[in-house]
Amino acid sequence: MSLKRSLSEFKKAFSTDDKYTSLRTITIDGHESAWMKTEGTTKDNSWVTYEFHCECDFSKGIAWDFLKSKPSMIGSQMNCLYKETAIHLRILELRQEYLTNDNFLKVPSFDFSTYNFDLDEKKVILNMSKRASQNEWVGQRSALAATFWGGTLYAQTCARVLDISMASLWKILNEMEKEKLISLEGAVICEYRNIKPSWELWKEVVHGSVKYLISLPANSKTKNVWRIEEVKSKSKKIIEEIPLSHVPTFGPDVDDVFVLECFFKDFFRNNEFSLAINSKPKL
Ligand SMILES: [Zn+2]
Repeated sequence: MSLKRSLSEFKKAFSTDDKYTSLRTITIDGHESAWMKTEGTTKDNSWVTYEFHCECDFSKGIAWDFLKSKPSMIGSQMNCLYKETAIHLRILELRQEYLTNDNFLKVPSFDFSTYNFDLDEKKVILNMSKRASQNEWVGQRSALAATFWGGTLYAQTCARVLDISMASLWKILNEMEKEKLISLEGAVICEYRNIKPSWELWKEVVHGSVKYLISLPANSKTKNVWRIEEVKSKSKKIIEEIPLSHVPTFGPDVDDVFVLECFFKDFFRNNEFSLAINSKPKL
């Protein structure tokens, strides 16, 4: 079944008006995969995402089915061999493009004394990152995950195009970060930005005339601790930093809230003290 047909069945079953546009299609043995732009609207705003899909992603019986006559997603198609092959072909194509462009070689190809056709890794990485930020398909599966972290693409995609190991790539990426060419957020490559540590207030606890401000790190450049500040009349000081066992990207982990609660129970000498997310602190 073609991508167009499985997509129209999918849209009909889920009654969605989201608009899918294929920007680059690769067909292998009649199985279609495509870098797609998806546009949709919710009550309050509109959104756009870019992802690499194959027809499995929309096919009934593979990605979704009617369960008790309601359409439901039943699985993801990360392992479709045709889709993997299509990504691999794009990686090879891109590698060839860089290898045949003198701008991306360490030594220009006309310098026959060297016969050196080594890619200039930094130039390739910067070029891939720029193209990915303009939503071009440079072999990534999805633009969503990387942009969620404020970046353009995963380092792994660059390693595949450069045909080098991740260990070698990390060395280059760390150098590039020092040279202020890029920033890194885990394995996500971001355009260079000078991120300063910052805190986000999580909760306030009032105890008599003293207020305690409990904050969490707001970005990855900030120490991964609960920061507790004591505010007394005009003075404010940090009284404790408690290490977090999880990075609070989606809010604090229950284990970390428990540790914080124990700290306050001890601090106030009050076993009834509670920081339950939906209840007011009891003192
Ligand atoms: Zn497929």
